[in-house]
Amino acid sequence: ARIYRIASIPGDGIGREVIDAGLQVLRTVSELSNGEIAFEVTEFPWSSHYYLEHGHYVPEGGLEQLAEHDAIYFGAVGGPEVPDHVSLWGLRLAITQPFDQWANIRPVSFLPGVSSPLRKADTTELEWVVVRENSEGEYAGFGGRNLSGRGPGNEVAVQTSLHTEKGCERIIRFAFDLARTRPVTKVSSVTKSNAQQYGMVLWDEVFTRVAKDYPDVETESVLVDAMSAKFVLHPEQLSVVVASNLHADILSDLGSALAGSLGIAASANLNPDRRYPSMFEPVHGSAPDIVGQGIANPIGAVASAALMLEHLGEPAAARAVLAAIDATTGAGILPKDLGGVATTAQVTEALVSALREDQRASETEEV
Ligand code: NAD
Ligand code: MN
Repeated sequence: ARIYRIASIPGDGIGREVIDAGLQVLRTVSELSNGEIAFEVTEFPWSSHYYLEHGHYVPEGGLEQLAEHDAIYFGAVGGPEVPDHVSLWGLRLAITQPFDQWANIRPVSFLPGVSSPLRKADTTELEWVVVRENSEGEYAGFGGRNLSGRGPGNEVAVQTSLHTEKGCERIIRFAFDLARTRPVTKVSSVTKSNAQQYGMVLWDEVFTRVAKDYPDVETESVLVDAMSAKFVLHPEQLSVVVASNLHADILSDLGSALAGSLGIAASANLNPDRRYPSMFEPVHGSAPDIVGQGIANPIGAVASAALMLEHLGEPAAARAVLAAIDATTGAGILPKDLGGVATTAQVTEALVSALREDQRASETEEV
């Protein structure tokens, strides 16, 4: 059997609810593989509740424990009791940064049976992927407060973006390599280099230089404000969209909303060098407004598990999970955020049944 060691970190809020759904789907994948695929899941209880009790999210030696796994499956972090910048830096960024997960892949997938605010989505096959620079840029954590020393009421804060030539180059190359694997070989680069003349201009220059190595790939450079309009007005022109940390964070939420809801969007934090484990998580946060109601949409977490299977070298299992998602939404089994009435448990049950159905169908074909 091919055994994969998964570290699961449900985190806060609906993180637990959607990760449980994803693990149920993975157990089904294993069960249906006739012993070929197995998952050894270790859960790590690091959450905001844990932080309030222990004074930290990731304990000493925690990263070393994570490093022994083939992948990390992450829910969400952020709770009403802890300031958001503390929880984000305490858990999510405390993993993505030391594990050098510099590429964050966020597919925008339109599902059957889910209505999109884009009328075009009903007639056109829409699907694109946001490639987010995940190690520097606006989230480099550089800056300071009260630099002026002018006293109360006059505080000054600086939050600096850091862009390195190497950091730009590796994520842009990653985007071009990804484009070559897709039906439409095109990369759209996003900056705000008209207003931000240092880091964003460096990005533009690196993009132009790297593009020369990929003459077969179509390119465009679009300013982020124009790109947000393009997401809505001309999404059919998109294939791979590569952008800095902040811009891609915002654009991927927009993309998932266009596809129906934040609840369906998947994400992979990759360490492409494979020195460290990569981390897979839904795009959404801990959704404190719906926690405990049993209505969290598990599709984003399940689609993230599909990205994890792909990364682990199980593309057939990944395809089966994505097909199960299509079968579920296509059959009108939709949770509340997609306009339906299905609970988290009902959607998960439907995904599991669809996987089993798919297996039965392929067995019949073989006979
Ligand atoms: P959010 O994604 O948690 O929620 C935004 C809205 O979308 C809410 O109305 C929520 O109910 C809805 N929603 C999100 N996921 C859903 C799902 N699976 N099913 C149904 N509805 C869903 O974003 P927010 O409200 O801005 O942030 C809440 C907390 O999450 C904050 O503490 C924030 O810092 C944190 N956060 C964490 C991450 C992460 O861990 N990667 C990402 C974003 C936000
Ligand atoms: Mn985000």
